[in-house]
Amino acid sequence: MAHQADIKFPKVRPGYEIVHHEYDVVVVGAGGAGLRATLGLAETGLKTANITKVFPTRSHTVAAQGGISAALGNMGQDDWRWHMYDTVKGSDWLGDQDAIQYMCREAIPAIIELEHYGLPFSRTPEGKIYQRPFGGMTTHWGEGTAQRTCAAADRTGHAMLHTLYQQSLKCKAQFYVEYFALDLIMDKGECKGVIAMDMATGVLHRFRAHTVILATGGYGRAYFSATSAHTCTGDGGGMALRAGVPLQDMEFVQFHPTGIYGSGCLITEGARGEGGYLTNSKGERFMERYAPNRKDLASRDVVSRSMTMEIRDGRGVGAEGDHIHLHLEHLGGDVLHARLPGISETAKIFAGVDVTKEPIPVIPTVHYNMGGIPTNFYGEVVTVRDGNPDSVIPGLMAVGEAACVSVHGANRLGSNSLLDLVVFGRSAAIRAAQVVKKGAPHSTISDESEDFCLDRLDKLRYAKGSRKTAEIRLEMQKTMQKHAAVFRTQESMEEGLVKLKKTIETFKDVQVSDHSLIWNSDLIETLELENLMGQALVTLESAAARKESRGAHAHEDFPDRDDVNWFKHSLAWRTGETEVKLGDRPVHMYTLDDEMQVVAPQKRVY
Ligand SMILES: Cc1cc2nc3c(=O)[nH]c(=O)nc-3n(C[C@H](O)[C@H](O)[C@H](O)COP(=O)(O)OP(=O)(O)OC[C@H]3O[C@@H](n4cnc5c(N)ncnc54)[C@H](O)[C@@H]3O)c2cc1C
Repeated sequence: MAHQADIKFPKVRPGYEIVHHEYDVVVVGAGGAGLRATLGLAETGLKTANITKVFPTRSHTVAAQGGISAALGNMGQDDWRWHMYDTVKGSDWLGDQDAIQYMCREAIPAIIELEHYGLPFSRTPEGKIYQRPFGGMTTHWGEGTAQRTCAAADRTGHAMLHTLYQQSLKCKAQFYVEYFALDLIMDKGECKGVIAMDMATGVLHRFRAHTVILATGGYGRAYFSATSAHTCTGDGGGMALRAGVPLQDMEFVQFHPTGIYGSGCLITEGARGEGGYLTNSKGERFMERYAPNRKDLASRDVVSRSMTMEIRDGRGVGAEGDHIHLHLEHLGGDVLHARLPGISETAKIFAGVDVTKEPIPVIPTVHYNMGGIPTNFYGEVVTVRDGNPDSVIPGLMAVGEAACVSVHGANRLGSNSLLDLVVFGRSAAIRAAQVVKKGAPHSTISDESEDFCLDRLDKLRYAKGSRKTAEIRLEMQKTMQKHAAVFRTQESMEEGLVKLKKTIETFKDVQVSDHSLIWNSDLIETLELENLMGQALVTLESAAARKESRGAHAHEDFPDRDDVNWFKHSLAWRTGETEVKLGDRPVHMYTLDDEMQVVAPQKRVY
């Protein structure tokens, strides 16, 4: 791939070569969010670079199975206002209602746009985009079941990534593939670019940009068992924390009800959308007890908690009684082959199960991070400054799972994330085109931020301690799995914090045995671990602070939602190795216009 090295300054620092680049906008990450933003920017003619640590079509978005929501109404009556109502309710009222309105309304043109870009959606007999039911998606304000999730069989993310990547190439977007972004270049509270390393050669690249868009995905790998790829290490969140930017609502971590027992691989919610159901060791369809209306298609937090309670009460399946069965046998070979071919294969490989004959062993598994870098619905990163809770950080944007817009609040509805990627990827591109002047000159900046990044890199590259990266990582993952779990108690979270802080302290003693710069996976994994640890820390601190139960945060000592004291987003700044400062921002309880009223908090009925 052609690279545009504008100016070259060899060996400004002994041992490192640094290439300088100047762009209007730089996007970090080439998953669904990063690619949609890149495509939008390239279409406007802004000089845009995309930096990605994995080849674009290998980003975790490729693994998305079930689909992308939009109230198209192709398979029954639907309305984007019902979609908005479901999303606010699903978020347990922690979502910002202006952003949710924007997403659900824009969903319809966004899907049509994807169709026109060439995304090969599954079709109805009349040739319309096929839509399946998903958890928490209803019609008539909670009355009926909506068929709202548009799908390309069970490989929707795969189809989306290939479509967006091909379109980006068509618009001549510039890609820097297998470049690892290290740190943001910050100057007087503004973002001025990013520093990255070409992993194949070890050459460093300094990208100046008027706007940097972080689209680096989630941090599922802070946990021991996760459905997300090993590359989901929250590097954007790590960079943000080091740049003094807070992360928002980090205590809300979604457990997907159906990860394959043992491997953690995902079985899409689409499997239950197509008619699959869960049973316990007595063969009971227990979801009928916990969620009489929505049953197996209740929202993910509800199903995960119900499964955990069944297991705790001694009704789990298997020799250890520690998992649950998901049945698809009754759907028949034809439906499974046409609608769920990918998961039939996954179940065979990872559980040795023939889904036409036997149930799949499943367990709630970490799946999605509702929290992230706080933004408004334009994708601009916001923080609390001078009493303004929506103060924009100039030059910095974030989209996708790395960001917290916040449309998912305390709990994301299935198929709303792929939607979040394309709607806000597009919105960020539109905003950047308004804010950035094409070809505007770059201001001079001090060497300080570059030094900060290089000092950190150099220190880790030559770290001669006694603890291996993998050892520290495993300790962190086990602590998170146990102490920031589906159910949490004050005691368990506080015990977890003590353990996690001890683990983080041992990072001073990390050992990187490979000092070279050519494909140094030892060094890259250590850099990723540092990013993960920051996020693990703010996740547990925010969780221990929130004294209520809301969405995915099920606090056993405070089992009810507390709208008097906790109806607010939490913010967390990392102020030291193991120190965190907590704050908050109000939830946006207003909509964009009169097309939709605010959805007032109610008790959730399942
Ligand atoms: C198995 C699975 C199935 C899912 N199914 C669905 C579904 O059916 N529907 C739905 O709505 N949601 C689904 N989700 C959730 C959804 O897929 C993700 O939230 C979403 O794909 C995240 O997209 P993203 O663009 O934010 O990040 P990703 O797709 O994770 O991409 C991150 C990008 O950032 C780059 N990057 C990261 N760090 C760096 C760095 N330091 N330097 C340079 N580049 C970097 C990576 O190279 C990559 O290109 C699923 C998730 C999983 C794990």
